[in-house]
Amino acid sequence: MIEIKGLQKHFKGLEVLKGIDLAIEKGKTAVIIGPSGSGKTTLLRCLNLLEMPDAGEITLGDQKLGFSRSTRIPAGKVIDFRHKTGMVFQNYNLFPHLTALENIMEGQVIVLKRSKQESREKALSLLEKVGLRDRADMYPHQLSGGQQQRIGIARAMAMDPEVILFDEPTSALDPELVGDVLKVIKNLAKEGMTMVIVTHEMQFARDVADKVIFMDQGVVVETGSPEQVLINTQNKRTLQFLNKVIDR
Ligand code: ADP
Ligand code: MG
Repeated sequence: MIEIKGLQKHFKGLEVLKGIDLAIEKGKTAVIIGPSGSGKTTLLRCLNLLEMPDAGEITLGDQKLGFSRSTRIPAGKVIDFRHKTGMVFQNYNLFPHLTALENIMEGQVIVLKRSKQESREKALSLLEKVGLRDRADMYPHQLSGGQQQRIGIARAMAMDPEVILFDEPTSALDPELVGDVLKVIKNLAKEGMTMVIVTHEMQFARDVADKVIFMDQGVVVETGSPEQVLINTQNKRTLQFLNKVIDR
């Protein structure tokens, strides 16, 4: 269970998140849609504490963090919270000097202090899971974008996070590589991984989402089932956005 209350973030006078309230149940998949600049990436980065929110609360499992401009969260808590919220980036962000296997081992060894042996075994089984067991010793530049992104997903999974956050995981990919990545994410959904996914893939959103969240200009405009938000929305702003996306 992840619960967000009154989350605010500004950058130098620009209010980017204007009080976000959201709840995502354990084992469910939430998909966030919305126009460019609406604050989707900032919200994910706040959930992962890559950005510090200015106000509000985030509860993840039994850990609750409250934010204000005057309180500083201790570094240990930040690290702990960060590895519970795995992040999958638009541009994969793999370490270029590490192999696929080493990319998936790194956080386990450094952050979780797992033994090399255990980390390696876990990494290999995750590589198997994302269909890349035979690419273990390749470096990122030797892999396609789709393969790099599947390594990115395996790397996030390796930390046994409580939730995985995906920021437009397929938007940098050539169209023919999108399917394999979406398939991996769909399998995670079936296995009951808790996920928050920002995407412009509307068919995928319909298939995989338990809950769809439409954001615009730093607020949550509408949340509901895929049917409610993507098919039968009564909201003018949601409808305007959907018409634009479908026209492309
Ligand atoms: P989205 O992911 O929905 O496209 P973002 O969260 O990336 O939106 O950005 C929301 C707004 O915040 C944009 O106006 C963007 O320019 C601004 N913004 C994002 N990150 C920063 C930053 N580090 N510094 C200043 N402005 C930022
Ligand atoms: Mg973004």
